[in-house]
Amino acid sequence: MFARCSSACVRGVDGEATDVEVHLRQGNPRFDVVGLADTAAREARDRVRSALVQSGYRFPEGRVLVNLAPAETPKSGAGHDLPMAIAILLADRVLPPDAGVGWLMFGELALDGRLRPVRGAFLVASTAERRGLAGIVAPQGNGAEAALATGLPVYAPETLAEAVRFLAGEAAIDASVPAVPCAARPSRRDFAEVHGQEAVKRALVVAACGGHNVLLVGPPGSGKTLLAERFADLLPPLEREQAIDVARIRSAAGLPVDGLPSTRPFRAPSCSASLAGVTGGGQPPRPGEITLANHGVLFLDELPQFRPDVLESLRQPLESGLVTLSRASGHVTFPSRFQLLTAMNPCPCGFGAGTPRCTCTPPAVQRYLSRISGPLIDRIDLRVPVPAVPYAALRSGRASRGTDSMASEVTAGREVQRHRFGGPRLNATMSPREMAQHCGVTPAAEKHIENAAATGRLSARGIGRVLRVARTVADLAGAAGGGTPDRIDEAHVLEVLRWRLEAGGVQ
Ligand SMILES: [Zn+2]
Repeated sequence: MFARCSSACVRGVDGEATDVEVHLRQGNPRFDVVGLADTAAREARDRVRSALVQSGYRFPEGRVLVNLAPAETPKSGAGHDLPMAIAILLADRVLPPDAGVGWLMFGELALDGRLRPVRGAFLVASTAERRGLAGIVAPQGNGAEAALATGLPVYAPETLAEAVRFLAGEAAIDASVPAVPCAARPSRRDFAEVHGQEAVKRALVVAACGGHNVLLVGPPGSGKTLLAERFADLLPPLEREQAIDVARIRSAAGLPVDGLPSTRPFRAPSCSASLAGVTGGGQPPRPGEITLANHGVLFLDELPQFRPDVLESLRQPLESGLVTLSRASGHVTFPSRFQLLTAMNPCPCGFGAGTPRCTCTPPAVQRYLSRISGPLIDRIDLRVPVPAVPYAALRSGRASRGTDSMASEVTAGREVQRHRFGGPRLNATMSPREMAQHCGVTPAAEKHIENAAATGRLSARGIGRVLRVARTVADLAGAAGGGTPDRIDEAHVLEVLRWRLEAGGVQ
């Protein structure tokens, strides 16, 4: 006596179709699960047996063999519990033979027969359409997420017994889940609430416009974090495909997916975060912070306090937009295309080396700065000083620039870049060849760069970074004033150089 049910499991940030096959035979009572099941999937035996009995069904006598196919795909977690129980009832003729046909099923069973939600419902459900299935049976706690992934009907019962009655045609479950169109926009924190940092806001507009990674340098209490938290709202809203990517990644990470997101992810891991927490890890591998920040912003506050291996691990994702985790069972690759926003104090004590209140010794300052030098700092185009805000500016009733006006300037500047590159690319991604083509400067601007280089304030690499940002400054000027200057002007270069030199530290 044989039966089969369709299911799926999570693989990276994808769903992978599986079949649950059950074979009942005469013989000594035995219950085996084969097909590369991990511990949780093997323990399904106890849950399925108990759930069936507690729901009022007989557990078959004799030998029960469950095969999770395809055999070469590792199956993890408890999501195969429900299809296993249903396939046993089919093989045992409790359910009519055609009862489970065309349905994708998943869900964990509690010992008393209730259905528990599992991680990755969005990914699992998204496999149903491409297999030509008619609908999905999922735990109630996963119903909305499954419905979001597919246009198919989703039935989300609370218990195994309800699922059985529905598949037998005895009960119509009124649980076809309403599709959730869009996640409510989180209440926005506006830049207008941050007073006295208009120069930093200007730099953040430039960064958002050209896609430049940023380092904010300033004493504690200067508002670095307040400014950073508002940065993601300067970026254009997610397009539909991007929103689906974000939902997939959240689902794979086991985070709630209660609608297609419209705003860009903003992830801010603490400086004590582990390597696995940042890059992803575990068995089976789950996405880390750099993948959760895909299509959005990764904010690292107190940059020098992060573990050196964590900072080192950012290098490859910043180059390629991907992170690869090596496992004994093979490699897993996650997307990780994010904009990097970082902040630090100018020195360990925070007041800034050379200022009267600074208590740091020169070697201590050197050690502090050296933690972030090298390959990581090479990927950060824009370095911005965040001065301590004078009390008067904080208290002044003067209007402060808000998010809407900043975001529309970003949009206009991105239009100029779209025109230049013939697509949605940004200045931060220019290759050396493209820079030679697009970053011509006026003789006066050239002089300032030469001067900074000659006095040792700008390295050869630094020149490239200054030019990329200056290109964006010129684009913003062009967008605002009509016509884009082909060449980068003195004023554009000076603005970028000033930020860079005032931020000090690593060149
Ligand atoms: Zn100090």
